[in-house]
Amino acid sequence: MYVITIDEAKCTQCGECIKMCPCEVYKLENGKVTVGSTDDCSNCQSCQSVCAPAAITLVEM
Ligand code: SF4
Ligand code: SF4
Repeated sequence: MYVITIDEAKCTQCGECIKMCPCEVYKLENGKVTVGSTDDCSNCQSCQSVCAPAAITLVEM
């Protein structure tokens, strides 16, 4: 299981993580990018590599 957090102070709301994640972990809610269920996360790390401000933290529990 993975716990994913977005540092809101760094996030620019670019939406690239939503586009890149093959498992639809990221959602747009009320104009804000949020983390939904991480059950399907495969730890491909595409979201982290595409996030320019390095706002995404992914920890395996
Ligand atoms: S890729 Fe990074 S900066 Fe862009 S919306 Fe996702 S978390 Fe925010
Ligand atoms: S590591 Fe891969 S599957 Fe997991 S949230 Fe990031 S892009 Fe999606």
